[in-house]
Amino acid sequence: MKKHNFSAGPCILPQEVLLKASEAVQDFNGCGLSLIEMSHRSKEFVDIMENARALALEILNLEGKGYKALFLTGGASMEFVRVAYNLLETKAGYLNTGTWSNNAIKEAKLFGEVVEVASSKNEGFNHIPKMFGVANDLDYLHITSNNTIHGTQMKSFPKVNIPLVCDMSSDIFSKQLDFSQFDLIYAGAQKNMGPSGTQLVIVKEDILGKVTRKIPSILDYQVQIAKDSMFNTPAVFPVYTTMLNLEWLKDLGGIPVIEELNNKKAQLLYSEIDLNPLFKGYAKEEDRSTMNATFTLTDEKLKDTFDAMWKEAGISGINGHRSIGGYRASMYNAMPLESVGVLVDVMSELERKA
Ligand SMILES: *Cc1c(COP(=O)(O)O)cnc(C)c1O
Repeated sequence: MKKHNFSAGPCILPQEVLLKASEAVQDFNGCGLSLIEMSHRSKEFVDIMENARALALEILNLEGKGYKALFLTGGASMEFVRVAYNLLETKAGYLNTGTWSNNAIKEAKLFGEVVEVASSKNEGFNHIPKMFGVANDLDYLHITSNNTIHGTQMKSFPKVNIPLVCDMSSDIFSKQLDFSQFDLIYAGAQKNMGPSGTQLVIVKEDILGKVTRKIPSILDYQVQIAKDSMFNTPAVFPVYTTMLNLEWLKDLGGIPVIEELNNKKAQLLYSEIDLNPLFKGYAKEEDRSTMNATFTLTDEKLKDTFDAMWKEAGISGINGHRSIGGYRASMYNAMPLESVGVLVDVMSELERKA
């Protein structure tokens, strides 16, 4: 039986997407070849890549606004490096909201000066810190919209006069935003988009080509744009599956429809966390993520009982990240409301029993 999959990543995907993807591995559209054994230069795959890139821009409402979409490899972690390589001339600002932004800072420091515009590191990254003015002499400002490990999410974004770069790995395509406020967005596919092995990069072309350093071809966004995201062999299976998932999202009604569902799921779980005396939320209420809910038991002695109960209910993937412990329920786009209901039932059952 299919588990209720709360994994933080690689993530749950719609069942129909998995089915179509597995059919393509056997025989792509009846063409007599598997998707993963045909040339990425074939018309079939070039169409897939173009469709995936176009869908990403269409769903984010960024068509015709000077943006290019790329599906690259190396994960979001590769973009920590590429962003700095392509944009950091002398000094960049980074908002430090969690493990991933902290890692992005570490990479950027190899290329120039990093100004931490604000940080919640000393409070265990349990909230989004306030930024007080961002200097105009920074090459760009880097933020992380959703902090997958600590379960916090930015609800508003700074208005700045410098390029705004956002790591949107774990909440892209989950809620409505004016995406044109960002100059560069990147996201590892395996959180809310597709299988691991590719990441989406959306970049406004006019911010590129300004640094004086020489950039190796594979790391150069301008080269990747000129080669239509195929400078080297792309991740054909992850890109195809991501395309199927974006089609699924579009057919469903796009971001407005999925946002409503995501809000319902989050409300259901957070109200149980708040009402049930056996549980406590990790993130500050106003910064709670609709994608990743982090919580702990108030009485550690109940751990074995609770763990046995949710496993028995067919739930998978709610152990917290090893760095903070407790529990983390990830409720990405493909997670049905019923699965969250099952978890909430187990939590209230524990309260009745204890
Ligand atoms: C998982 C994650 C990353 C790292 O992604 P990789 O694809 O494994 O490199 C970066 N940023 C955020 C916000 C993440 O959730």
